[in-house]
Amino acid sequence: MPEGHRAESVDTARKLPDLLGPLLDGVAESVIVRAPSGHVLLWNKASEALYGYSREAMLGRHLHDSLNAHHPTTLERLEQHLLEQGHWEGELKRTLASGEDRRIEVRWTVQRGPEGQPVAVIEYGRDITRLSDAELETRLQAHRYRNLFQAMAAAFWELDFSEVRKMLAGLAHAGVKDFRAWFEAHPEFIDSAIAVTRVVDVNDKTVMLFGNGRREDLVGGTVAPFWPRESRDVYAESLLASIHRLPSLSRETRLSTLDGRLIDALFTVCWPSGHHGRGTVLVGVIDISDRVAAEREVRTSELRYRNLFQAMSTALFQIDTSRQRELSASLAARGIEDIAAYVDSEPEFLVIYMDAMRVGDVNEAAVRIMGAKDRSELIGQPVTRFWPRSSYPVVRRSLVASFRQDVTFEEETLNCRLDGSEFNTLFTLNASPELRARNMVLVGLTDITERVAAQKALRQLQSEFAHASRLSMLGELTASIAHEVNQPLAAIATNGAAGARWLSRREPDLDEVRAINANMVSDAKRAADIIARIRAMASNKASERQRLSPNTVVEEAVRFLHHELLAHEVDLRLELAEDLPAIEADRVQLQQIVVNLALNAMQEMKRAGCPSPRLHLATLACDDGLRFEMEDSGPGIPLEHQERLFQSFFTTKANGLGMGLSICRTIIEAHCGRIWAENVANGGARFIFTLPFARTPSRPG
Ligand code: ADP
Repeated sequence: MPEGHRAESVDTARKLPDLLGPLLDGVAESVIVRAPSGHVLLWNKASEALYGYSREAMLGRHLHDSLNAHHPTTLERLEQHLLEQGHWEGELKRTLASGEDRRIEVRWTVQRGPEGQPVAVIEYGRDITRLSDAELETRLQAHRYRNLFQAMAAAFWELDFSEVRKMLAGLAHAGVKDFRAWFEAHPEFIDSAIAVTRVVDVNDKTVMLFGNGRREDLVGGTVAPFWPRESRDVYAESLLASIHRLPSLSRETRLSTLDGRLIDALFTVCWPSGHHGRGTVLVGVIDISDRVAAEREVRTSELRYRNLFQAMSTALFQIDTSRQRELSASLAARGIEDIAAYVDSEPEFLVIYMDAMRVGDVNEAAVRIMGAKDRSELIGQPVTRFWPRSSYPVVRRSLVASFRQDVTFEEETLNCRLDGSEFNTLFTLNASPELRARNMVLVGLTDITERVAAQKALRQLQSEFAHASRLSMLGELTASIAHEVNQPLAAIATNGAAGARWLSRREPDLDEVRAINANMVSDAKRAADIIARIRAMASNKASERQRLSPNTVVEEAVRFLHHELLAHEVDLRLELAEDLPAIEADRVQLQQIVVNLALNAMQEMKRAGCPSPRLHLATLACDDGLRFEMEDSGPGIPLEHQERLFQSFFTTKANGLGMGLSICRTIIEAHCGRIWAENVANGGARFIFTLPFARTPSRPG
């Protein structure tokens, strides 16, 4: 301590006895006043008698150091507590001037200045060394209780209930038997009971939680400010518990702080055996506002989820996956990591997996879609019921996705209704970490039967149209076809006659006949090939995808056009890239496109009176896969037509249908490609389409 401070304290101390000395010397108890720093300011006669030090000797000295004070808790912590709370009482061990150790019971109170700053600590002390054992025991108990009371994280209140007891006794005297009914009928009785329940003591936690930091504002008054009306029932219940001599009662309720804030509290009242005679009860309050708020939050978000779940027009299934978890764990324990390979080797695992997943909840839309009477028919069912064997590959993929911890999985598939009938669905699975943590996943099923049927009808319609347009295309090619077939037939006839001549010679030239025969066989085969191609074009087979070499398709299509090109004197140039990867497509449909584009070009070139018609066909590889180009030397496409070229029924021809290009586009898009047209510098038109190459590289078929 700096010298100046000590001098100042001593100076203050010198004046104090003059003022207080006569008063305090008359008190039988030891009264010591010390500065917040611990230096003694005042030392009365009883203190001289107790400790054996004279006033002169002690003034200005550090109290704890001089008396060699001890306490189980460090003195430093006690002092800190004292400054915070303004009050402390307990037992200390101190050494007298004679060297003897004594147990001193002290009560400390902080005196504060006008601005609340501590100016002094008043101590009342009593030697309890020679108290009787019984007395000591009681004190010890009380002390233990105090420590416990203070140390608990809960806010503790000691309440004086004696007035309320009298009121209850009055009721009993007046013949009230059913207290519960009586309390319900007379809520004002509870209000007046609350108004006479006095606060005897509170612990620090209570001061913090309910008060504004000052214990005085809580102790001495009644509990009325802390009991809001809405919690009256809980008070009534604790009265009933006391009437029925229950040892304790716990309820969640709301209590009010001094500044009117409501807190959610776990309220426990107990009647400790030692307190019976004193008419006091002990109340513990734990602030559960945070928990209640969190619970409320969870409840509202659950409610939101529930409402949403029920209101969705999509059929939703909440699937309980807790058993599936065990399955995963057992697989992991067996060292199985590659789940896809495992399922392939043990296909029955899929069924075990589906059996382990049960419907936890469903919404109304799910009840409808599944043809159930109500939710109970679906809840608890294993999902196995909803999957026909033909859809197991989808289950397998969703299982693999789930083991990969994918959050979503979606696929079009077939599911079963409760009666076993199958329907087309869009199956969507959501397994967000939040859902997984609660051992569930969400499944949405959309009935796409109509969509699938519509798509099927559309596909059929398109193929009918494509067929019709192919037939009309063949109609346009009749002359060419007749010529194409005629050629080998005529050759066969000529060769047949020649052969007959060689045979009818006196010495038949068999070598010649053999050569002629070979020619006839190859001509007959050519004719058969042409007819097979025409038949394929004319047939109405469903679209059939296969691996194709792009160039072969183009070359075959050109063969179709052979005669037409000759008749129109078209100069055809092919520029086909070598080693193109295969495409996966329908041969006839692609040839239809090439033929269609070429016929259009020839017609336009003829219509425009083009003197030297030219067609340039090219195949090449591009970023999107295969790129096919056909360029003509016709008039090109007028700007105003460019937008509408591929629309159905757009035609500039007197007898045109306007379906050709629209069908070309449908076919190309169904093959995941693009088709468009542009004008070229020399004035002609260029039609381009792209198609993706087949996925796994292999030799084209
Ligand atoms: P259609 O041949 O029955 O008219 P398409 O759909 O095949 O039906 O063609 C639509 C229109 O596109 C044609 O009428 C024509 O005006 C235009 N067209 C097609 N190909 C070409 C081309 N190579 N050059 C200029 N215009 C073309």
